[in-house]
Amino acid sequence: MAAPSTTSLEAGHPLRECDDCGLVVRLGPVSPGVDSRCPRCDAVLRRHRESEFHAPMALAVASLVLCLLTVSSPFLGLRLLGQDRDSEVFSGAWVFYDDGLWILSILVIATVVLVPLLRLGLRLMVLGGLRMDRPPPILATMLRWHEKLGIWTMLEVFLFGALVSYTRLADLAEVEFGPAVYGLAAAVVAMVAADGSFEPQAAWDALERRAATAHATSPPPAGPANSPQPAGPTNSLQPAGPAKVTQPARAGAMRIACDCCHKVSLAVPGDACPRCDSTLRHRKPNSITRSWALLIAAAVLYIPANYYPVMTVVTLGQGGPHTILGGVMEFAESGFLPLALIVFLASVAVPMLKLLGLAWMLIATQQGSARALLFRTRLYRFVEAIGRWSMIDVFVVSVLIALVRFGPIASINADIGAACFGAVVVLTMIAAETFDPRLMWDVAEEDTAVTPAVNNDRSAPIAASAHESPAAR
Ligand SMILES: [Zn+2]
Ligand SMILES: [Zn+2]
Repeated sequence: MAAPSTTSLEAGHPLRECDDCGLVVRLGPVSPGVDSRCPRCDAVLRRHRESEFHAPMALAVASLVLCLLTVSSPFLGLRLLGQDRDSEVFSGAWVFYDDGLWILSILVIATVVLVPLLRLGLRLMVLGGLRMDRPPPILATMLRWHEKLGIWTMLEVFLFGALVSYTRLADLAEVEFGPAVYGLAAAVVAMVAADGSFEPQAAWDALERRAATAHATSPPPAGPANSPQPAGPTNSLQPAGPAKVTQPARAGAMRIACDCCHKVSLAVPGDACPRCDSTLRHRKPNSITRSWALLIAAAVLYIPANYYPVMTVVTLGQGGPHTILGGVMEFAESGFLPLALIVFLASVAVPMLKLLGLAWMLIATQQGSARALLFRTRLYRFVEAIGRWSMIDVFVVSVLIALVRFGPIASINADIGAACFGAVVVLTMIAAETFDPRLMWDVAEEDTAVTPAVNNDRSAPIAASAHESPAAR
């Protein structure tokens, strides 16, 4: 896990670079239940929980059990003119595949079944491994993948999609709830609680501490003596193993925060993070160009996504293709105004906001604009957080096509518009992840983020000290 080419800067309390504005702060000791926030843009830098591992472990076990129950039991049933049809949570994915829309098939299976289960499994293995005397090094890889997969867990979005679908189905025929419906609702509640209780930074800190402890207690340590491990309930990070010895700064070394585990090291871009082994980069590579490419691709696909139907609904020989906006209008005309609003926000307003908001951020960054920096940073956080909710419409189609298969009496089929829309959602989500909001602050204040190479922590010009504010949750 340790890379000898980087130098630790964390002799006292740990340094942390804000993901959103690039400000480097030193996190002081704070009480449980308090979040450390960026003094410049108010981003949450570190959450401090009462129970850093026990509660997350219990909630992750509960979530995993409920998720397994949800995917292994019947979901919804439909009774129409003496005919029955049942579905499971992932049934829509098979129908998408049969209809040739394999991209949606992969998307539904991945975001509703595979990623949530895999992520919970990884988290449990990390939390379980931390209870061992000598945690295996593979825990760092597991935690790294746990972090990377975070945005692709969409069980709660699927629940909303199922709710919207139910409203449409109840209009058509008798709907029966299977155990998976209750399992899904409970799993979503458990997963929200589990995510809220688990602070990955605490796991990274513990992994690093345990690795250092294992190193200190391993038989005859040759060479310089290890410095003592300070005890206490603070969130101080301890450098892992021999990296504690201060090394001379290398040519081109700068203070770099790891994108994945957030450890701040004195390193040359391209070095491996001493804690999680990710490649260290001062900023996301080619962020502007790649974000533009993804955004333009999404904008182009947004046209067919709205022009072509997302599904074709036929009941007793009547009906026809439905576009996204057509579905919204239908809800509104049927008197389901709150649902019409939800679908409109998720399927029309959010994608537009993402496309226009990211384009504005990219243009302003390229122009070196310092206007509305704080607003743009908050907008970025918002766009990043709500991006996945646009998947509601794809999930609505997946639930409907799995159930309404009664031939000429009533049938719903997915159309190419749904695939285009799914691609828009995925591309805008990747575009938001690819864009580096710290660049907005870099170009506005050239001296904000780049720190000259330093040999020791004391001479490092830390921009601000940790700032405490009441926990947001
Ligand atoms: Zn910040
Ligand atoms: Zn790292």
